[in-house]
Amino acid sequence: MQSQKPMIHFNVLGGAEQIGANSTFLNFGGTGIIVDAGLHPKNRSVHAFPSIHSIEDEPTDALLITHAHTDHIGALPYILKEQPYLRLITTALTRDITSVMLQNTNKLIREQIDISQFKQDALSLYTKETAEYISTVFETYSYKEPFEIIGRRGLMPVKCTFFDAGHIPGSSGILCEWNGLSVFHTGDVQFKKQTLIPGASFPKHHIDVLFCESTNGAKESEELSFATSKAELAKFINAISNQNGSILIPSFALGKTQEILCIIFEMQQKGLIPTLPIFSGGMGKKISAIVDRYCYTSPRIKPGFEIADIPQIDIPYDDIEKGPYFSTPSIVIASSGMMNPGTISYKLAHSWMQKRNYGIAFIGWQDPDAPGYALSHSEPNQKFMFGPHAVKRQCAIKNFRFSAHACKEDLLGFIEQVQPKLLVLLHGDQEACESLAASASNIMHDGMKILLPMQGKKYSFEKE
Ligand SMILES: [Zn+2]
Ligand SMILES: [Zn+2]
Repeated sequence: MQSQKPMIHFNVLGGAEQIGANSTFLNFGGTGIIVDAGLHPKNRSVHAFPSIHSIEDEPTDALLITHAHTDHIGALPYILKEQPYLRLITTALTRDITSVMLQNTNKLIREQIDISQFKQDALSLYTKETAEYISTVFETYSYKEPFEIIGRRGLMPVKCTFFDAGHIPGSSGILCEWNGLSVFHTGDVQFKKQTLIPGASFPKHHIDVLFCESTNGAKESEELSFATSKAELAKFINAISNQNGSILIPSFALGKTQEILCIIFEMQQKGLIPTLPIFSGGMGKKISAIVDRYCYTSPRIKPGFEIADIPQIDIPYDDIEKGPYFSTPSIVIASSGMMNPGTISYKLAHSWMQKRNYGIAFIGWQDPDAPGYALSHSEPNQKFMFGPHAVKRQCAIKNFRFSAHACKEDLLGFIEQVQPKLLVLLHGDQEACESLAASASNIMHDGMKILLPMQGKKYSFEKE
């Protein structure tokens, strides 16, 4: 006899025991939903993309996007080439940012991916036109505004709802309810408030299956304290400006740039640091302008506050070597966050390194292969490889943590609150996932399961 209990299937297409091409497939009785379409931040082979071929025989009806970071949207044109009829759904703010972020992804694909590894035309949608077109076909919903998805092979609609994830402006966790069964995907989440945006506002009721990000699954809250990091950053800025130097802050264009601008502005207003001129520009500025358009409609600490209210001067892109920051103590916020070769932060770093009284403040995660990692771990006056160049640095360097991801205690607090029957850990390295799994097993009720999924493998969950 066939079971009448509601059952779902799922398949993690990327982001299993790593922060990679994040993407999860869910099959609710014939309605197929993909959550996110990420591009791996480092891998540049076919494995940089979600393993979409592992669901070739599955129904696919909609692609829901949690937020616009490249590790969640960078494979959108790749998936759309394979699955052109997917409904695309996200928040309005994420839709607008996605369009800009994809322009940057196009460049990255052209410059870094070995196209010969792919079947013909697999990457043909990485164009300016597609990035623009995508923003016109997205359906958008606000937080806590439910919408339905019913697939061509589905019998019963899946009710979906976005919840504010507190990670970056526009970011969401997604609740899917179907046939008496509930699934929640956290996307990337921060439960604590940041300077620009409040912390996550997630459902508090029981959830059957919880897909939970694990970036900081091995990190306690004191390691990630914003208050401590802010105090240390103020001290660093004061020390450098007191010796007549300028501070360079390499920063990701989406999320970090807006947050660090707010942090510096707040410190200036409180008189904790001098009112040095702030230089910004490029893609970070473009994204800030989009974020500002939603200053009343997307949650923030001070409704109506605009990044544009913070006095900023454009980095002179035509001749960055002649910028006023070389004659007057200033703060320069420039992408990329990891100082990838060719970017403004990379170019400026070469000049900064020569100056004993200058300083570079690292505020985000550095991939061990990135130039930013090498510089942030370098010793003064000792040779190291910065991209293709052997260099020495004279300037001061300091690392700060302003993580937009929840710490271990906060993740555990959420898991304990919703008591999932099945907890699936994603978006973290092996150490983070295993550490979070070990702690979660202590707080979950009997009979609950924890899964560290394998990429491309099909799993099932049946409600008792
Ligand atoms: Zn993210
Ligand atoms: Zn992510």
